[in-house]
Amino acid sequence: ATGADRTKDKADRATYQTVLDPRTRLVLVKMLNSGLFSELNGCVSTGKEANVYQAATEDGKDLAVKIYKTSILTFKDRDRYVSGDFRFKSYCKSNPRKMVKVWAEKEFRNLARMRAAGIRSPHPIHLRMHVLVMEFVGTNGIAAPRLKDAKVSQQQMQVFYTQLVLTVRQLYQECHLVHADLSEYNILVHNDELWIIDVSQSVDLDHPRAFDFLREDALHINDFFRRAGVATLTVRELFDFVVDPNINAGNIEAAVDALIKVASSRPAVQDPEDAMAEKIFHQAYIPRRLEEVDDYEADFERLGAAGGDGRAAEGIYYQTLAGMRPDMTGAAAAPAVVEAAARLPG
Ligand code: ADP
Ligand code: MG
Repeated sequence: ATGADRTKDKADRATYQTVLDPRTRLVLVKMLNSGLFSELNGCVSTGKEANVYQAATEDGKDLAVKIYKTSILTFKDRDRYVSGDFRFKSYCKSNPRKMVKVWAEKEFRNLARMRAAGIRSPHPIHLRMHVLVMEFVGTNGIAAPRLKDAKVSQQQMQVFYTQLVLTVRQLYQECHLVHADLSEYNILVHNDELWIIDVSQSVDLDHPRAFDFLREDALHINDFFRRAGVATLTVRELFDFVVDPNINAGNIEAAVDALIKVASSRPAVQDPEDAMAEKIFHQAYIPRRLEEVDDYEADFERLGAAGGDGRAAEGIYYQTLAGMRPDMTGAAAAPAVVEAAARLPG
């Protein structure tokens, strides 16, 4: 057989489990021919929106090849992520092929931002239409397990939780991104570390719904870790930790200590009142800029009258975001989580 036949064979093998359309096959054959990888092996995952394959280079390095599906149905519910992101103004709803290309591009760029910030996520290597080639997270061609399936001791879970909260903060502060689909399904456990994947739907902080997505992410990871027996923060505490402008390189260690202290003060089984407060916080409107605050004076007065009673002050959630004290009597002198830890008994 000629070299071209051989490459075609290899591409054929990849189509064995899922039918790939001719365009996708062409892209894969070009990638094989260019030497980007020399083998396209088994399917690691078949998802609703994409399939992921394992590939190997000539010198034996593993790669992950994510192929987005071009069927229009799968992309209908994705619109909420893209509309509103300034980077995707030219997004074309009527052409599914263009749409998936945008998704792949989005994932590539988000991964690049994350890697630049030092977040553990697959290094994006190559992008062609709706086919994304990236670093393979795993060992000897076997993909690392998802957090959902990984065997992790309770003690390690506690450590992972703290690390993950820090990663969400880093993603927000340094990459200006909210993951928007963060859960035990999109985190891999590799060499005892968490790797963040699946960022095609992640949004820039300018997205009008960025805070909604951040709260959803916080809710999902809190739920997972709580079920795993970890003492977690509330969604509001997690949100505040992520957005707090008073956390910096000089006090982040103290902030992490405080985070652990606050989380540990909370029982792993959620108190019903906390659960109710979470629901209210989850649906509350959070202004993103001071101009978006309806009536600052009224809020200030209500906080004063509440005198530190969190329930009486319910509904006002932008203090930490604005770098203010919880009662808004001035700028906060320390990260909110440090102050909260100091108020705890013991
Ligand atoms: P989707 O959830 O949209 O189908 P993901 O990006 O979450 O796509 O990938 C699906 C699955 O493929 C993941 O759960 C993981 O098991 C595997 N996977 C994705 N990217 C990689 C990678 N870089 N290395 C190893 N496995 C991966
Ligand atoms: Mg996924």
